[in-house]
Amino acid sequence: MAVRKLLDDWYRQRAADVFAKVLLEMVPRLGLRRTLPPMRLLSMRTQWGSCSPKGEIVLNPHLVKAPRPCIEYVVAHELCHLREHNHSDRFYRHLARALPDWEARKVELDDLAELLLNR
Ligand SMILES: [Zn+2]
Repeated sequence: MAVRKLLDDWYRQRAADVFAKVLLEMVPRLGLRRTLPPMRLLSMRTQWGSCSPKGEIVLNPHLVKAPRPCIEYVVAHELCHLREHNHSDRFYRHLARALPDWEARKVELDDLAELLLNR
């Protein structure tokens, strides 16, 4: 359907803009001494994002419909994987240092997930 396609394109454009801004904010906040990692948009059914072993951040364009604090949480989570490619205690310590309230943000996002992912 043409309207659906237009809407998807609009979300993707908006997602690219918003995610780029959030990345720019979160990289220094996480104490990452590096240039911005490459970022790619990928529509996914069950995931908000991922981080490839090569350090590419993949984000779900549907995430742009979530409140900003939730977007920051996902971006911070994936950026932490640049340091720790796992969900170890060290990983969560990094995350908590940058976003002490990450758990509340995650709960909010989890509650919205079905609505945002299935439109
Ligand atoms: Zn993870």
